[in-house]
Amino acid sequence: MYMQNNALNINQIIEIIDERVYNESKFIKFLSFISAYHEILENLLKAYFKSKHICSLVTLKILNLLVLKYQFIRQHPFLIAKPFGLIVDPSNGCNLHCPGCVHSKNNKNKFIWTPGNLTKETYIKFIENYGPTATDIFFYNWGEPLLNKLTPIFIKIAKKYLLRTAISSNFSLDFNHEELVTSGIDYITIALDGATKTSYSKYRKGGNFELVLENIKKIVEIKNKLKTNKPYLQWRFLVFEHNMHEIDLAKKLAYDLKVDELKIETPFPVNWDDPSINIAKDIKPEQIFINTQINSDINTKYRYDYWSEMSEIENKSVYNDWYESFQDIEKYDNFENYQDMKPTNSTCQWLYKNIVMDAKGNILTCCMAPTPERDLVFSNITYSTSLPFKNVFNSKKFRLARKFYSDIYSFSEDIKELDLNGLPYCIKCGGMNNTLTITNQILKYYLEDISLFSMLSDNSRKILTEWDWNPPQFDKADNQKLRPLILIEIGPSKVTAGKDFNTQPNGDSAIWVKVANATENTVIFWDDNHLQTTFKNSNLLTAVVPKSLYSTPGKHKIFLFDSGTGRKSNAGLLTVNEKTNDYDPRKEYSGSRNDDL
Ligand code: SF4
Ligand code: SF4
Repeated sequence: MYMQNNALNINQIIEIIDERVYNESKFIKFLSFISAYHEILENLLKAYFKSKHICSLVTLKILNLLVLKYQFIRQHPFLIAKPFGLIVDPSNGCNLHCPGCVHSKNNKNKFIWTPGNLTKETYIKFIENYGPTATDIFFYNWGEPLLNKLTPIFIKIAKKYLLRTAISSNFSLDFNHEELVTSGIDYITIALDGATKTSYSKYRKGGNFELVLENIKKIVEIKNKLKTNKPYLQWRFLVFEHNMHEIDLAKKLAYDLKVDELKIETPFPVNWDDPSINIAKDIKPEQIFINTQINSDINTKYRYDYWSEMSEIENKSVYNDWYESFQDIEKYDNFENYQDMKPTNSTCQWLYKNIVMDAKGNILTCCMAPTPERDLVFSNITYSTSLPFKNVFNSKKFRLARKFYSDIYSFSEDIKELDLNGLPYCIKCGGMNNTLTITNQILKYYLEDISLFSMLSDNSRKILTEWDWNPPQFDKADNQKLRPLILIEIGPSKVTAGKDFNTQPNGDSAIWVKVANATENTVIFWDDNHLQTTFKNSNLLTAVVPKSLYSTPGKHKIFLFDSGTGRKSNAGLLTVNEKTNDYDPRKEYSGSRNDDL
């Protein structure tokens, strides 16, 4: 039926599909609608892109964005759509040791960050799965990308999938400049915090100021030789007390160096790692644009020529899989549960829009660095295939994390038999949860970069890059008591036999538990023993623990019971160790790599 509507233009198709994003509650129907418009959209794009390959990829990317938008605003735990932003560390290592970073010499045991470089085999597995549907790829998270000699090859491969590519580098190392520029890299952020060697070296420990300048000059030279404005060079200057007096000097130097932009920025605090390095106060962030020829015709032509010269991706099935998977979707993950889901209007964008992989193939839930207390590794790419039910972005932890926000009832059923260590870190995260809104500047840059923005109406641009929904809210006051009780974390979870812990003024030992949906009638149980519980708020309870319960070694089941509603929570384990095996809890560090994302 839809196939007859070939008189429609691209903007009308985007608007029609978007209307269904909000109004079609049956996901299966929505997917068949998407399939029906695939061919029409691809044919219309032929008027703009000569290459069939580019038309197929752009179609796939637009439709994936719309399916992801549907699944994001409806908070689906299992995703058919794939994330549009890819973040990959070509190397987990760095040649510098900046304070606050996982590579700081003081932080060796504070983070779980395994050194090593990304192999081509692992990267191919990742890019074949996520490249066709994505729009941009950042080759940096917690490592120095140019430490891996394969990085230009990775970039070149990413360009075949029509991705916008970016690296952030300290530029304080030797690399092949021509190879980097001709890889097709679109954007380079250079971490250079100072206009003199002395101030630069205070924070960028181990960095070579002269080498950074030399590398910038060589890249600019090659850009001039090739008559291209790509890569865009952004000098990123983090302002601390020790370098704030050099901002004017940096502005002058930026013009001399002919970078495209100087970005003056306030860093994350790092004085928890090096007390002598403090953020400068009262400095306004600034962006100084130096090269105003960024969108010149030469540049656009260069990029079109580059794409045209690229060979087609050999295995076309990598993007056919995405459509074919629609047919089988009902078989997986109780998909009927996704019909008419009632959004809770709270989730985390990272669980939908980005996928993050380190150089060892670990799939992380977001850009934070894992610590002993913060397990952010949700899967490994080696377990992945391109089909959604084998997609590592749908690993059990990812699904549980999404479900925690969208469907706590189903979440509580799924975790009944699960150890607390199996729970996704997201349920403890707080702070970074968002409403159902994504306004994505990077997506806008992308659409501009592939010259699609100019052919889209204002409304279509908004549809693709600004996702927003304010669904009717259920009455929280009424439902609070009916929502499942979830035990999230116990503190301490390990104690020593006969040794008091969390000692209270009266000498009693005490535990705390992080929970969801507790009430004043909720009590903590230690095996069959009802503990004297204090309600702090619906997310936190404490209880006094009689000495007799921890006088001998053993493992004990901790759970919650709500006498007002009869609800019982999942259980966690508290271990009482032998006296010789004292537990020494490590402090949690937030970490701060001061490079842009
Ligand atoms: S902040 Fe960047 S340059 Fe510094 S150690 Fe970390 S990854 Fe390396
Ligand atoms: S909820 Fe927190 S831990 Fe989970 S993806 Fe979002 S920011 Fe990361």
